[in-house]
Amino acid sequence: MKSETPSQPSTATPPSDPVERLAALRHEFGEHGGVNMSIEASTTFTVMEAGTMPEIFQGRLGPDDGGCFLYGRHFNPTVYVLGRQLAAMEGAEAGYCTASGLGAISSALLGLLDQGDHVVASDTLYGGTWAMLAEFFPRKCGITTTFVDIQDADAVAAACTDRTRVIYAESLSNPTLRVANLPILAQIAHAHDAKLVVDNTFTPLAITPMDHGADVVVHSLTKFVNGASDFIAGAVCGTAPFVGSLMDLHVGPLMILGPTMDPQVAHSISLRIPHLPIRMIEHARRAKLFAERLQSAGVVVSYPGLSEHPDHELFHRIGRPEYGFGGLLTIDAGDRARAEALMDDLQNTEGFGFMAVSLGYFDTLMSCSASSTSSELSDEALRSTGIAPGLVRMSIGFTGSSEQRWGQLERSLRRTGLLS
Ligand SMILES: *Cc1c(COP(=O)(O)O)cnc(C)c1O
Repeated sequence: MKSETPSQPSTATPPSDPVERLAALRHEFGEHGGVNMSIEASTTFTVMEAGTMPEIFQGRLGPDDGGCFLYGRHFNPTVYVLGRQLAAMEGAEAGYCTASGLGAISSALLGLLDQGDHVVASDTLYGGTWAMLAEFFPRKCGITTTFVDIQDADAVAAACTDRTRVIYAESLSNPTLRVANLPILAQIAHAHDAKLVVDNTFTPLAITPMDHGADVVVHSLTKFVNGASDFIAGAVCGTAPFVGSLMDLHVGPLMILGPTMDPQVAHSISLRIPHLPIRMIEHARRAKLFAERLQSAGVVVSYPGLSEHPDHELFHRIGRPEYGFGGLLTIDAGDRARAEALMDDLQNTEGFGFMAVSLGYFDTLMSCSASSTSSELSDEALRSTGIAPGLVRMSIGFTGSSEQRWGQLERSLRRTGLLS
């Protein structure tokens, strides 16, 4: 990587739009001046003067203040660049990337929580996060969680104890697609001397949690941010001291537990950030089009871009409608058998999309949440959080033409009796 770069866009105050902040980042050129940065494939880095080794090792002389990179689990230059891109997108001071979304979530939480501490979390969370908080943390670390309906501010406040250090929510809940009221959650967290941690995997660009008081933002980059379903990856964004603390040689979860991102992965993902806005807009445009048509046809559909959605107003207020209302919609097929028949037909007869968990792929992905990505939840938890057994979650892709895809969806719905 060349240290001197030609044009250095600079702005006195950082732009408030995430895409403008990304464009204002220093461009990293490749070793030979390539328009793309080089991949730094070294796991260890040469110290030029022996005398500086102790300072560098103690973290007092980092790559940004005259020292150098040390070891790849600590900081790798290519991974560091992707972290800066994520931080710019989220309006955070710093960001760092991890080997998975769960690696980011567990690191962020273990960075904020000690044994005996308490979390108040949404009762509709990604299954892996739910298991981490409900089962793994209490058993392995003595950290407990109270799960509440995150839409109920009084319940959130009432669940806080003097050991509550974190309030945890997803910007848009999976698969119920409820929007977290971030300004209110931040207020409650800060009144209890706790941090608001938000998983923004479902709504990159469309919602910027830090604009509304979030202290830490975590991502599974595996989904929309990467966009091609070929890498598992994650990110943590927050203040520079917080992100730095995750790399502490003694108690930093990124350093000690080692969910390190590979620089080759960081390089590939960094090349997809520039077209993330175009992709998000098209995912959302198609999801809204299908949701509107499904609704007028009488299908039970949920999409936050519909004015009938309970959080449409809230999303409009805290989100950035120019990037849409997300790429996910759900259809309630009534029961599991009909949900399975619909997905079978859509995949195997029409070629509309794929029956697969995950989201944010360029083609449509469909899954029945209760028996897949939310199956970590107990039957009782599924019932109380409104995850119906026939709920089909669709991450709407953008291949083919909108009308071709709508035709496929309509025919499958007719064949499975969901449309007359
Ligand atoms: C997929 C997902 C995760 C976990 O991310 P991995 O990259 O699979 O570890 C966490 N939160 C949400 C909302 C997700 O969709």
